[in-house]
Amino acid sequence: MNKSGVEDVELALEIRCALGESPVWDPRSDELVWVDIRSGHVHWWTPRAPTARSLQVGNTVSAIAPRRAGGYVLGTRSGFAVLDSAGSFALMAEVEADRPVNRMNDGKVDPRGRFWAGTMAETDEPGAGSLYRLDLDGSVARVVDGVTISNGLGWSPDSTTMYYVDSLAHSLDAFDFVVETGEVRQRRVLAEVPSAMGLPDGLTVDEQGYIWVALHSGGAVHRYSPDGRLDTRIELPVALVTSCTFAGPEYKDLYITTAVDPERDEHLAGSVFVHRPRVSGMPGPLCES
Ligand code: CA
Repeated sequence: MNKSGVEDVELALEIRCALGESPVWDPRSDELVWVDIRSGHVHWWTPRAPTARSLQVGNTVSAIAPRRAGGYVLGTRSGFAVLDSAGSFALMAEVEADRPVNRMNDGKVDPRGRFWAGTMAETDEPGAGSLYRLDLDGSVARVVDGVTISNGLGWSPDSTTMYYVDSLAHSLDAFDFVVETGEVRQRRVLAEVPSAMGLPDGLTVDEQGYIWVALHSGGAVHRYSPDGRLDTRIELPVALVTSCTFAGPEYKDLYITTAVDPERDEHLAGSVFVHRPRVSGMPGPLCES
């Protein structure tokens, strides 16, 4: 038995993130980068180092991705933002300024380098959020509306399908994706996620095109086939499993972020875990905006 207390997953880094989210590998520094939404921290960690280094950015930060021009693109309470390589924060494009109860949530870079992030009402008001695309020229397009909790995003290895989770829709959805323009069409449910299994949250896609979905309140990660079949279930020792990403120089390790549920006595909640499947992930594109 390893330190995580379960079989398929190891404790990678013991840390108490209130709401750890949006893990992404930064190939420029060989670090895992993720955020703690509630406390507004960005964390960086080199696998096997004893601790992470952290920065509080002064805004709710819900998603992060490395940026070609240096530093990172962020999803924040106020909209899309940039954290430059010196650690200074600047808002890039405001989103939903007329809805103070809304904040951005999960985000991801598409195969062409556009950054996508959605919103949610902190009251979980049904349909109050949307999914946005930050285009290469810095303009923002609202792509999907009527979203309740905008969450995981990912693309098939051939870039023709976009995967998407609105957590309170209780499903993993798919769209046809047009890589040249960033348009999406033909939304459909790929896999239903029964509420007894938790809420679908962050996701990542492996090199075989299978989709790994974190289950918030479900204490697990599910791997679905491209046609929506549940292929593998990985159990974690904490309930609030928020997101996952392939990381490490060869993208062989699946790192999993978690959150603290104040109602549960889980001493590893908020920590980062690692699962080593027999399949690798794919390098994430840098944000070109
Ligand atoms: Ca999330």
